[in-house]
Amino acid sequence: MNTITGLTLSQLVHGLRTGDFSSREAVQAYLEQIERLEPNLHAFISLAPEQALAQADIADSRLAAWRKSGENPIPPLLGVPMAIKDVLCVAGLRCTAGSRILENFIPPFSATAVERLLEAGIIVLGKTNTDEFAMGSSTENSGYWVTHNPWNLERVPGGSSGGSAAAVAADMAPAALGSDTGGSIRQPAAFCGISGIKPTYGRVSRYGLIAYGSSLDCVGAFARQVSDVALIYSLIAGHDERDATSMDYPKPQVNLNGKDLKGLRVGIPDEYFIAGIQAEVEASVREAIQVLQTLGAAVERVSLPHTEYALPVYYLIAPAEASANLARFDGIRYEPRSEAESMWGVFYRTRGERFGAEVKRRIMLGTYALSAGYYDAYYGQAQKVRTLIKTDFEQAFEKVDLIAAPVAPSTAFPIGRHSDDPLAMYLEDIFTLPANLAGVPGLVFPVGFDANGLPVGMQLMGPHFGEDILFKAGHAYQQVTDWHQRKPPLIDKAFT
Ligand code: GLN
Repeated sequence: MNTITGLTLSQLVHGLRTGDFSSREAVQAYLEQIERLEPNLHAFISLAPEQALAQADIADSRLAAWRKSGENPIPPLLGVPMAIKDVLCVAGLRCTAGSRILENFIPPFSATAVERLLEAGIIVLGKTNTDEFAMGSSTENSGYWVTHNPWNLERVPGGSSGGSAAAVAADMAPAALGSDTGGSIRQPAAFCGISGIKPTYGRVSRYGLIAYGSSLDCVGAFARQVSDVALIYSLIAGHDERDATSMDYPKPQVNLNGKDLKGLRVGIPDEYFIAGIQAEVEASVREAIQVLQTLGAAVERVSLPHTEYALPVYYLIAPAEASANLARFDGIRYEPRSEAESMWGVFYRTRGERFGAEVKRRIMLGTYALSAGYYDAYYGQAQKVRTLIKTDFEQAFEKVDLIAAPVAPSTAFPIGRHSDDPLAMYLEDIFTLPANLAGVPGLVFPVGFDANGLPVGMQLMGPHFGEDILFKAGHAYQQVTDWHQRKPPLIDKAFT
């Protein structure tokens, strides 16, 4: 059925311009879809229906004026609805980071990535669910509720950007923003059968992103197909003086011409095809690599020898940085507050009552790793090994243009499976963490299904600022395959 919500982002832009439908109709269609599926999925933390409709009317009058005069160019995404992960500030909309400690926080400003998309004409439908402060791989750690995977309601959507991924997979939004500190865009994109980009560290401003691990955090995007992800990336990337780590590098020119990959050298890292990985995941990824070969790419083995250290290194660095970043949530600077007799009492009660278990675990780990006498042994040592991991990538990219690998060892796992075992949950990240530690970009797109009908994703990693190569390869792949066009059965069920 060709409803508005079934369109890709680019089709939606086209339909709005030609006047096939109005922005109000589009926003209404998505709001109806959300109303229908949200009770099963819980992909959002907050919705903004009135603002969205009011903005749609403004967009419609601009579109009408443009159609009449045909003159001044209009913003590229004028009137297009989108969903935003609830760790990114949108002025005037509550921003919780999935935490009860920010239950009442209404930011007076928008994150740079959001602001750039608002200038490009988007309309925010709502804020999507996330593991608390983006700490997790399943969206089960949210302080609000658990998001369900649209392909199977008993499975997790991945995390921490599980709300954004589920919303796009279920046609509740044509695209969404997310954040990726150790895999939080790539793993949920894979689990939900959609496409997603984690850009090069420093390529997209972190201003207005609620900080988790500041040396790892990246803002990126989800959509149904690679070309749409590339479009959003090209709008949000670029220097921002409000983020000191944002790179002053020319604006990207994403050019997706053709599907000829002749001359492209694809590296297959031995360390990513290991015992314990689900057989169907490995088989689908290997088949996808063959498709890239038939398009002209040359494939060779590469080695990233320090991969096995990525997990311990990440789980020192990320909690250490988180423990510092989360110190600001004390009941004084942000509401809500738990009252107590003394200032320390306010801190103690506010944090004790409102942070979830995983967040507390990470604050304790991180504080320990940073404490006097231990800093060199833990954080300092982890930073040194991190450099070795980064060097692995640099050496590999002297031989190949990109690296193809699985995203996670398995497809979406059942809700509750790792609830009592944080280490098993951390193992879900082994193939995504290295890119964050090295700062390189990663693109994910669907390449098959397992026997339970759950999507399998593939990850392409590139050199720093090599997003264009990733998009070119992913787009070429999607021109000769149709995995990205498959939709979860629940979408049709909802229409009957
Ligand atoms: N699962 C990883 C963690 O819990 C990564 C999360 C993320 O990328 N935000 O830290």
